[in-house]
Amino acid sequence: MSRKKRWLRRLREIVGKEYLLTDPASLLAYESDALTLFRSQPAAVVLPASEAECIAVVRLLAAEKIPFTARGAGTGLSGGAVVEPGGVVLALSRMQKILTLDPQQGFAVVEPGVVNDDLNREAARWGLRYAPDPSSQTVCTLGGNLGENAGGPHCFKHGMTSQHVLFAKVVTATGKVETWGDAHSVPEDLDLRGFLVGSEGSVAVALQIGLRLIPKPQAIVTLFAAFDSIAGACAAVQSIVAQGLMPVALEVMDQRAIRAVEASVYRCGLPTDAGAILLVDVEGPENQIQEEAEAVEVALQKHRPMKTERAQSPEQRRALWKGRKGAGGAMGRLGPDSYVMDGVVPRSKLVQIMAYVEQVEQETDIPVANLFHAGDGNIHPHFSYDSRDRSQADKVEAAGAKILRKCLELGGSLSGEHGIGLEKEALLQEQFEPQELALMERLRRVFNPEDLLNRGRGLPLGSGCAEAFHRHGGRP
Ligand SMILES: Cc1cc2nc3c(=O)[nH]c(=O)nc-3n(C[C@H](O)[C@H](O)[C@H](O)COP(=O)(O)OP(=O)(O)OC[C@H]3O[C@@H](n4cnc5c(N)ncnc54)[C@H](O)[C@@H]3O)c2cc1C
Repeated sequence: MSRKKRWLRRLREIVGKEYLLTDPASLLAYESDALTLFRSQPAAVVLPASEAECIAVVRLLAAEKIPFTARGAGTGLSGGAVVEPGGVVLALSRMQKILTLDPQQGFAVVEPGVVNDDLNREAARWGLRYAPDPSSQTVCTLGGNLGENAGGPHCFKHGMTSQHVLFAKVVTATGKVETWGDAHSVPEDLDLRGFLVGSEGSVAVALQIGLRLIPKPQAIVTLFAAFDSIAGACAAVQSIVAQGLMPVALEVMDQRAIRAVEASVYRCGLPTDAGAILLVDVEGPENQIQEEAEAVEVALQKHRPMKTERAQSPEQRRALWKGRKGAGGAMGRLGPDSYVMDGVVPRSKLVQIMAYVEQVEQETDIPVANLFHAGDGNIHPHFSYDSRDRSQADKVEAAGAKILRKCLELGGSLSGEHGIGLEKEALLQEQFEPQELALMERLRRVFNPEDLLNRGRGLPLGSGCAEAFHRHGGRP
């Protein structure tokens, strides 16, 4: 029996034959994440159901020196959950138990495959919520959120995933099981939570995650303002924050995004003649938020909106947010493939970067829609293209790199929340000094010494790691 057949047989023994996928049709779904520019067919996908199975799988892969990558729902947008050819995808979607929910102490312990929204629904029964809310929250997993340090519209006030992870029980790439952080106190040992969260699955695989839950707000006011240009909406965001106001969410959508939403099942009455809309949530005790909402309205008026409106009912509020969060999906009608970028600029540079995005759009002649977390200066230009046309794929990739370089030039960063993945690996040297990258790499190697776990993700290991993957994955 060949070596490969032997380790596949042992994987099958650990998880059961139904949960080891090797046929090409099943593997197809695991060839890419939501960034389809990169594709790679794994040798197998293994779906453990429990912590014990997951540890046994990792130990086997480590012993056999097989490259592997953890995967949640595969909604990542930087190529993080894809393994190089010949490797194994460790799919954690069957590990979906909420193990503890302690309403008194305000925390939950979950398995990594729990879907973000499922935790929220459970927490809501106790008047609590899990704050980070990626727009993909109805499907993305808390393990994937930890891997990417996910954000979301309401992270402007409440902070990203890293601010909500209390601890994680992990299995390292060599099969060692450790717990980093503590639910109740400051850990006595070295606190490695910050190192793990956002490490793009390249340090260890989370088996259990302890998460902070916060009370649901007493009251919420949702407002939106329509502007004739995206510059107007961005300038309004700057004014609101400059006045010391602290809404929970400040989200901008441009005309192309608005029209895609209004033509889809997510339609929510947005004005399709507006150049852009700004969606704002203010939350807190009833007596405070009316005053804050009025102050936001005054700030908005200074930028001459076409109109401003407050959601008149909880139903209208929910519809507006469904429209915003469904916008990524609605954009599917603009082209067969999407490339959703992620970059950050100081908030004061939003108007400049959006003008540059428009310039790049004109140069490439590929339509771009914009919907983004403006409060955080986190932009997401959304290119709609056809990957079957190789030149279009080349153009969007080059356009993405140009926009990211501009973000750096304006004092920003390569990623706000989608991570580096395969997408931005080549650009990391432009943000960090060689010695900074070397330090990150040395740290990673402590837990992933042979680089078997998610090789080349989040760090430029060796030259052109991403080249191992089939770029521009249009299928013939
Ligand atoms: C329509 C749409 C909207 C989106 N909106 C947002 C948004 O508002 N904010 C935002 O931040 N992102 C957003 N995203 C991106 C994506 O949903 C997030 O990055 C999310 O956190 C990925 O979760 P996942 O379960 O799909 O993870 P995957 O894509 O499967 O994996 C992501 C990374 O995490 C690692 N990983 C997975 N599980 C584990 C584990 N148990 N331990 C260690 N590492 C692990 C993987 O190896 C990979 O590197 C959006 C994506 C889409 C398609």
